[in-house]
Amino acid sequence: MERTDVIVVGGGPSGLMASISAARNGAKVILVDKGDRLGRKLAISGGGRCNVTNNKPLDELIQHIPGNGRFLHSAFNHFNNQDIIEFFENLGIALKEEDNGRMFPVSDKAKTVVESLLGEVRRLGVAIRVNQPVAHLLYEDGSVQGVRFKDGSALYAPAVILATGGKSVPHTGSTGDGYAWAEAAGHSITDLYPTEVPLTSNTYFIREKLLQGLSLRDIRIAVWNSKGKKIIEHQGDLLFTHFGLSGPAALRCSQFVVKELKRSGLQTVQVTIDMKPDLSLDELVRDSLRICAQEPKKAIKNVLKHLLPERVIPLLLEQSGIDEGTTYDHIPKQPWQEMCQLIKAFPVKVNGTLSLEEAFVTGGGVNLKEIDPKTMHSKKARGLYFCGEILDVHGYTGGYNITAAFATGYTAGMHAAQQTLHQA
Ligand SMILES: Cc1cc2nc3c(=O)[nH]c(=O)nc-3n(C[C@H](O)[C@H](O)[C@H](O)COP(=O)(O)OP(=O)(O)OC[C@H]3O[C@@H](n4cnc5c(N)ncnc54)[C@H](O)[C@@H]3O)c2cc1C
Repeated sequence: MERTDVIVVGGGPSGLMASISAARNGAKVILVDKGDRLGRKLAISGGGRCNVTNNKPLDELIQHIPGNGRFLHSAFNHFNNQDIIEFFENLGIALKEEDNGRMFPVSDKAKTVVESLLGEVRRLGVAIRVNQPVAHLLYEDGSVQGVRFKDGSALYAPAVILATGGKSVPHTGSTGDGYAWAEAAGHSITDLYPTEVPLTSNTYFIREKLLQGLSLRDIRIAVWNSKGKKIIEHQGDLLFTHFGLSGPAALRCSQFVVKELKRSGLQTVQVTIDMKPDLSLDELVRDSLRICAQEPKKAIKNVLKHLLPERVIPLLLEQSGIDEGTTYDHIPKQPWQEMCQLIKAFPVKVNGTLSLEEAFVTGGGVNLKEIDPKTMHSKKARGLYFCGEILDVHGYTGGYNITAAFATGYTAGMHAAQQTLHQA
C-alpha cells in the first residue's frame, strides 16, 4: 500500500504551487496529473507569454476578481502578488510590468514560467506522476484517505489537495473532474458558467458580418438590465467578430451578461458601446461638426474618417437616417444629434456567450461557505483541501486568476503539510 503525506491532484498553477509549498513545509508530496505534461493551461495563458500576476495594490487586485475576490484576503496574507514576483525572481525568472499592471516573464515565454515551477518541484523532491487520471477520492469516517486511479490502483495520504481546475478549454486537462469528488465529500457546487468569454449576437450587422474584424481601441462598453439600469461598464479594446463581440472589454462584461440573461429570463441583454468615451455628447456634436466644417465640400462619409473607424461610418449614418453623400451645409440637425448619441451608446443586442468550454475561465465552483479561507481546508471532509479555479472564485484576465491560483495553492500546500506533520 503506497503512502505519502500530501497528494496534490492537478498540475496547473495552483497544484504546482501547492506542491512546492507543501514540500517547502517539510511534507512528502506526490503530484498526480492525468495529462502527459504539467501546466498546459498556464503555457497558453496570457497569449502564450504567461501573465503570472498583476502588480496592482491588493485592494485593486481584489476588485479585479469580481467572482468572490474578498474570499482571498487570508490567502493573500500568506502569499500575494508581491510574493509571486519575489518567488519567481528567487528562481532566477525576471519579470516585467506591462499595461494595467500585468506581469510577464522578461523572456515573453510561458515555457520559462512552467519550467521554473517544474524545476522547483523537482528540486524539492516532489514525486510527479503524469498520465495518472484520478477516478475518485477515498473517504472514511468523514476524512479523506487518498485517491483511486482510473487503472484501479490507489495512493494513500492524510491530506489531499484538489487542484483540478474548472471546465474551460478541456484539451488542457481541465474537464471538471474534481466537482463530483467534492460533492461526494458533501460539498455543494454553485452554478457553473462561462466567464471571460466572447459575447454572441444575432443583430443584423453581426449576422451580415458588416463589422467583422473591426477593432475599436479604448472604447467603453456597458451592460444594461431589463429596467434600463447600467449593471457594469468597462473600458478597453473591442473586436467585432462573425458571431458577436470579443476583445478584453467584451470578455470583462461576459459574466454580467450571463447573469443578467439568467436573472431576467429574456432572450437578449442590451449592451452599448461608447466609441468616444473621452468626449461628452455635446463635445462630440461640436467636434464632429467642426471637422465637417473644415472640408465643407466633401461628403460627410469621408470627413468622419478623421473621427471614427471607416467601416462603422455607413452603419451610423444609416441608423440615424443621414445620406452618406450629405455635405456640411446640409447636415440635418436632429439626425446628427442622434448619430452622435449612437456613437456614445451604440446598441448591440447580445443573446449569450460562447460556451463554457470556449471560455478563458469557469465561473462558479466549490461553494466557498464550505472552505476555511485561512487554510483552504474543507469544512466537510478532514484532510481535504482545495485551490485554484475549482473554487467559486474567478477574476478578469490580466493575471488575476493565476494570482488566485498561486495564492490558494500556496495556502493549501502550507496547511496540508502542517496538518500531516502535526498528525505524525
Ligand atoms: C487561453 C487562456 C488564457 C488565459 N489567460 C489568462 C490570463 O492572462 N490571466 C489569468 O489570470 N488567467 C488566465 N487564464 C486562466 C488561468 O490559466 C486559469 O485560471 C488557471 O490555469 C487555473 O489554474 P488551476 O491550477 O486551478 O487549474 P488548471 O490550470 O486548469 O489545471 C488543472 C490540472 O488538473 C488536471 N486534472 C484534471 N482532472 C484530473 C484528473 N481526473 N486526474 C488527474 N489530474 C487531473 C489537469 O490535467 C490540469 O493539469 C487563461 C486561460 C486560458 C484557457
